[in-house]
This record gives sequence, structure tokens and C-alpha cells, in this order.
Amino acid sequence: MRALRRFTVRASLPEPLAALGTLATNLRWTWHPPTQELFASVDPQTWERVGNDPLRLLAQVPVSRLEALAGDENFLSRTRTIAEDLHHYLTAPRWYQRRQEETNQRRAAGGNDPLLPDSVAYFSMEFGVTEALPNYSGGLGVLAGDHLKASSDLGVPLIGVGLLYRSGYFRQSLSLDGWQVEHYPVLDPRGLPLELLTEPSGAPILVHVAMPGGRVLRARIWRAQVGRVPLLLLDSDVEDNDEDLRGVTDRLYGGDQDHRIRQEILAGIGGVRAVRTFCELTGHPRPEVFHTNEGHAGFLGLERIRELINGEGLDFDQALTAVRAGTVFTTHTPVPAGIDRFPVDLVRHYFGQDVLLPGVDTQRVLALGAEDNPGMFNMAHMGLRLAQRANGVSQLHGRVSRAMFRGLWPEFDTEEVPIGSVTNGVHGPTWAAGEISKLLGESSVDGGAGALGLEPVSDSLLWELRCSLRTRLVEEVRRRVRAAWLQRGASALELGWTESVFDPEVLTVGFARRVPTYKRLTLMLRDPERLRALLLHPQRPVQLVVAGKSHPADDGGKALIQQIVRFADDAGVRHRIVFLPDYDMSMARYLYWGCDVWLNNPMRPLEACGTSGMKAALNGGLNLSIRDGWWDEFYDGSNGWAIPTADGVTDPTRRDDLEAAALYELLGGQVAPLFYDRGEDGVPSGWMAMVRHTLATLGPAVQASRMVREYVETYYAPAAQSAASVCRDGHAGARELTAYRARVAAAWPAVSVVDSGTAVNGSGGPRLGVPLRVWARVHLGGLDPSEVDVQAVIGRVGDSDELHDVVTAPMRHTGDGGYEADVPLPHAGSVGYTVRVLPKHPLLATPAELGRVALPR
Ligand SMILES: *Cc1c(COP(=O)(O)O)cnc(C)c1O
Repeated sequence: MRALRRFTVRASLPEPLAALGTLATNLRWTWHPPTQELFASVDPQTWERVGNDPLRLLAQVPVSRLEALAGDENFLSRTRTIAEDLHHYLTAPRWYQRRQEETNQRRAAGGNDPLLPDSVAYFSMEFGVTEALPNYSGGLGVLAGDHLKASSDLGVPLIGVGLLYRSGYFRQSLSLDGWQVEHYPVLDPRGLPLELLTEPSGAPILVHVAMPGGRVLRARIWRAQVGRVPLLLLDSDVEDNDEDLRGVTDRLYGGDQDHRIRQEILAGIGGVRAVRTFCELTGHPRPEVFHTNEGHAGFLGLERIRELINGEGLDFDQALTAVRAGTVFTTHTPVPAGIDRFPVDLVRHYFGQDVLLPGVDTQRVLALGAEDNPGMFNMAHMGLRLAQRANGVSQLHGRVSRAMFRGLWPEFDTEEVPIGSVTNGVHGPTWAAGEISKLLGESSVDGGAGALGLEPVSDSLLWELRCSLRTRLVEEVRRRVRAAWLQRGASALELGWTESVFDPEVLTVGFARRVPTYKRLTLMLRDPERLRALLLHPQRPVQLVVAGKSHPADDGGKALIQQIVRFADDAGVRHRIVFLPDYDMSMARYLYWGCDVWLNNPMRPLEACGTSGMKAALNGGLNLSIRDGWWDEFYDGSNGWAIPTADGVTDPTRRDDLEAAALYELLGGQVAPLFYDRGEDGVPSGWMAMVRHTLATLGPAVQASRMVREYVETYYAPAAQSAASVCRDGHAGARELTAYRARVAAAWPAVSVVDSGTAVNGSGGPRLGVPLRVWARVHLGGLDPSEVDVQAVIGRVGDSDELHDVVTAPMRHTGDGGYEADVPLPHAGSVGYTVRVLPKHPLLATPAELGRVALPR
């Protein structure tokens, strides 16, 4: 049956129920249990059948039922209350508006706090908001969805921008012998919670992007509404397009490099055009800040450069300066092999004929994506060059990124590479089970007083709740295992055993994620007999639920899935280990709620952050994980377990052996014994102490609201400030900073520290804490002393004379190229110093930004 057209749905709602239409199209219902309960009560069976999707519910519920509800005063009054609640949620000031208010007050009192932007555009190739809008493949998309939801809760004025894929990523099933099979169901956008942006005539507004050979790629703009946040999704499936161009948005991460660059051109360049159209149409403020979530959407910066060249008369460098000021780039990739790159010839094919971005020099475009290999165009390098501010997604990933990209700032030590970090978070109201939120109070879920909410809850009550969540998972596992076997071709008659798969009393471990090699899906199978012994332990058994999709082109990943499936098919263990096909948000929820332990064993440090373990933690699940990504900074010894990593071991086989052995050891030696150590009341009090500690400490820390607040304070507000400074007075700041860059570039070869030395005040030689006088003579190559920072750098020295644990102190200009500073000695033992010169300009975000530093010759 085809999905019903959305306006038909609205038309068929009796007038007293009109508010249900709004409640169904605003995706706030996905994290608002009272709205879900309202829809469930419309028709519980249909609600179940349509997979808890309000639009499909309204399309399928019998008209007679709707008519009955239209006369049901109780139902109407509940609907009114919830509609008013939504209205209040959408219009009342929230955290961000209060922050703006405070900022204004401080500025009125003479402070110079940066103004918070009135609009931020957030670009991502995937958005996982709900399974009812399947537009994501995994963690990156779900993170983007959580970013929008938390922004909405906080009142952050975000606009999301991406593509609408006709078939999403793909649906996964299994063949009889355990091989992944992909399905691409075609989604009708009219049946999705989307609204088309149209001309007053009703005709769809189209974004145009020029393609080589005089062709044009057109895209419609669909708008999803995520609470307060609009999400614009471009869709190339319009009749006016050539057949091949209609297919640009067919699938996420499908197709070849050519397909992919077209998608990225549409997302980046088309995306900016869609934002402009949207703002004109609705009066929404124009974005001051553009946030590029991963390199894929990076072409957005090039379109903004074109706008400034064509519309404001800036040259390329000035436009680049202006664009950088208002751009934030987030990288998610800790390995060079994972970075999005295109052959330079392919980029030239699309950008080379002066039609895609008229007036923008192709050579300059190519230079932005340059990397070591002259034949490749690197989207991450372009992302970094187009953004004045950049970050990784956990503290460890920040460090890894600084090392990985240090080639872009070759003269700086790794620690000074200007890439920071904001550790990812997850949207509590989406991922915490309703019972948990109720028990602990709303505030614990959206990042408030986690520990306080927990105090009065007894161990036995909390344990009961954990047991009921586990039981619900067991029911879901049985349902899905049975469905999977029917799909694989089994007959219902031989599936009686599926009714007793899993046991609601048994320690339940979850492992679900995409299946790239580094996540090591099959590490648990390293020693199959040991795994079998853990699963079948007579007193302390473990049951394991596994899920994940492999990229359709990755046969290696599919072979790993097959290994797990074959192991789990064995009649001797199939009641204790299952592989559930078609991992998505609708399945993930049950796993995060019900698993006692969440297992993660990536090859450190290849997991940039990881978020599934955070979702488990929100529900009182304990993490058992390699110290990678978020777990490296959040593991505290009593909120779960750290699987030791064999970091120095280079032979991957040996490394897997060692880490797998450590995993079995922990699971059998510590995790299971603690879980099964019961008091007289049947409650495992040692276990519950860890659950309690997890809920109280990780609960607030892993929230997406914490993450979004960090982005606002550390990235969006400073970026908005920078953007305002360069744009003011006809882009005077951009012109000035660009001229400064040129002056620095010309002068720098001659900038040097000619001579330097030290002297200790008083007698007795250098002592800890006593100021050391450092002096230097510096040649500035024609730059003014006000245009540079001269610094004394003091730190420990090892055998190689390399400085570390350094402190830096600005040096005073004493005239005629002379500089001096008094620096208290920071360390005892072997200490060294040096002097360096850095560019200095009020519009630079960091001294390393220009990649220039001069040291003694
Ligand atoms: C959270 C989530 C992920 C990300 O999990 P990782 O731990 O980052 O691998 C992937 N898929 C779904 C459906 C999720 O909800």
C-alpha cells in the first residue's frame, strides 16, 4: 500500500482533532512520551502495527475511530493540553535566550562578552532523528539528530541542512547461510514528516546547481521540524532533472566517487542556497555561523566565498578570510584511510569550467584540498582550511587529530595545532527509558541534578526496574529472532525454540554498531571455546546480543557478520547468543534500555568517540570497553570496566589475542561474579553500587545538552564574534586581516631571533620559582613590533634537547629589536629555554593560525 499523501491526512482529520496534525509533524513527539501516549491511545493496535509512527497512524486508523474521538471530551482535552505544551516549548525563552539576556546585560555594563549568534547553520550528510525518517547510517547521523534535539531543548537557533535519500541507507536481512542481504525500499516523502518549501503558487521551490556540459542539477527542499529547529533536506528526485541527476540523492553512501562528489556538491553548495531561500521565505535570520559536521559538507564554504566575490566585490583571499571567521569544522575521523578524498581530476571536472562557482578560481579551490598526494583532493584538509575553528569529538580524538593534521601547521609542536575537542553527547530524553526518567526525575535526564534525583531510590527498586528493562529486551529479542528466521526461509513449525531464546534472569551483554574492521565485531570469537564456556556457565551464564550493518561494498565486514551468525546458529548456544539483523534506532533503543553490560572493543585509538555506550549508561548499563574515544576520559574505575589495550604491540593478530584474552578474563572473572553476587533480597548490591554511580556521574556528563552548550560557548559564540568583526563596515576586517596575512607572508623569511641569553636575578644560580631573565634580539623583516608576539619558552629538556612541559611568557619590547621577560622557573632539574616570534593580530583565533613561527637560527 502506498503511503497516504500528507495533506490528505490533514484534510481527513475532523476539525476538533486538527491539533493532532501539528503534533504528528513536529518531531518533538519522538522524545516526548506524553505525545506518544496520546497517539497510542488513538488506536493501540494500529499504533503498534505502524511501528509507533504518528503520520502512518493517522493515515491508517479507521475514520469511524477518528469521528468518535472528535466527540470524546476527555481525549480532546488531553490533546489540547499537549498541543499547548508544544506551543509553550516552541515559543518560551530557554537556556539560550537567558544566556543572550545575560550577555546583553554584561555588555551594557561595559563587558565585552561575545554576542551569541541569532542563527547557526549545521550541515551534515546524515541525520538520525527518528526511525520514522530513516536518513542515517550510524553514529554520525544519530549524533547530528541528537545535536538538533538538544539545540531545540536549549533554544539554540540552529538550522539543520542535509540531503533526503530516497532509500535511506539500506535495510539489512540475512541469507540462510548468514550473508548480509541489502534492501532499498523506496520512501515516499509525502508519507514522511516533511513539508515541501513552495512558491506562493504551490510550485516547489528548486535549488539549482550547475553541472558540467551545460546541465543543471535541481533539488526540492523538504523541511522537517525537530522541535524548534528546522531541518532542510535537499531532494534531487524531480521530473525536470536528467535521469542520472534524479538519482543523486538515491542512497546514503552508495555509488562511486562520481556519485558521491555530486551528493557533496549538492549538500554543500545547494545546501547554502537552500538556507538562503529558506531565510528569505520565512524571515528566519541569516546564519552567522556555519558548522560543518565532518568533511563531506565542506563545499559549503566555497559557495559562501562565491557569494562574497560576486556580491560584495571581495577578492578570493578576502572572501576566504571572511568565510573562515564564521565557520566551525568538526572532524570525526581518526585515521587517514577514513578521510573523504577525491581524485583532483574529478574535482576539476565539476569546478573547472567556471559554471558551478562563477568567478571562483579553480586553482584556489584545488589548493584548499591539497594533501601529500598531488593527485588527491582531501575534504578534511579543505574543512580545516575553510574554518577558523576546528575540533575533534573526544579529548583523545582531539590529541589524535592534532597529530594527524599537524602537517598543515608544520612549524608547530603537535600540542599547539589549533584543533580542540568537544566530547560528543547523547540526547537523554530520546535514549533514556521512560521509566528511568520517571524514577529519577526529568532533570536527571536533561542534564540537571542526576545525583540528587537518585538519592531516595532504593537498590531494590532500581534493580526491579533494571530487571523489567531486561525482560522487555528479551521479549524483543525473541520477536526479532523469530522474524529473522522466517525471513531466512525457516518454517514457523521449526521455530518453537525461539520462544525460549534468552533468559530474563541472565546477565545480558550488548554489542551493536556498524561493522568497519576497527570495531572488531568478531573479537569475542577469538577463542570460541572460551566464549562458549562463558555463555553456558552453569551458575553464572552470560547472554550476548549482537547487531550491526556492514557497508554494502565491504565483503570483509559481511564475512565478519557471517562468522557471528554461524556461531550463533549452533543449537548448543543459540539460546544465549543472537545476531539481530537490521540494526537501527528502533532496535537500538531496546538494547540500550535492557543490556546490563555494553561491550565495545575497537582498536585504540580508532574510535573517535563512540556514543552507544553513553546511551547504555543513561539507562544504568555498565560499560565494558577498550579505553578509546569517550571511555578514555570517562572511565573512573567504578563506573564499568576498562579492557586493557596492547597498545605497543604492532602485530595485529597478537594484539587481538591479548585483548580478547583480557576481555574473557574480565567478563568471567569480574563482571559475571559481581552480577550474580546476590544478597538475601536477591539484589546484587555491589552491582547496584556501580549502576548508581554510573547514573549519577555519567548521566549528566554524557548529555548532548552538555555538548551543545560547549559548542555554543567555545565555538559558536567566538565564531559569531569573529564573523561580525570581519564583516563590519563593508568587510573592512576581512580586508585588513587579509592584508596582514600578505604582509606576514612577505616579511616572514626575514623574521628571526638573532641572539638571546639568560641571567638569574641575585646570587645562588637558578632555583625553582626564582625569575629567570630572558633577553633576545629579534629581526622583524619590516613588520611592526605591534604585529608580532615574541615569547620566551621554558621547559624540561631531555637528552635530545627537545623542550617539553613548557611555559611561555610574552616578552617586552625594549626598543631597537630588543626584548626581555622575567619568567619564574617552572621546574627543577634539567631546564632549557628558547625564544620565538609569532604573528599577532586581534582577528586571529590562535597564534598558530597562520602556521608561522620563527625560532633562533
Ligand atoms: C548511537 C548509535 C550508533 C553509534 O554507536 P557507536 O557506539 O558510536 O558505534 C549507531 N547506530 C545507532 C542506531 C545508534 O543509535
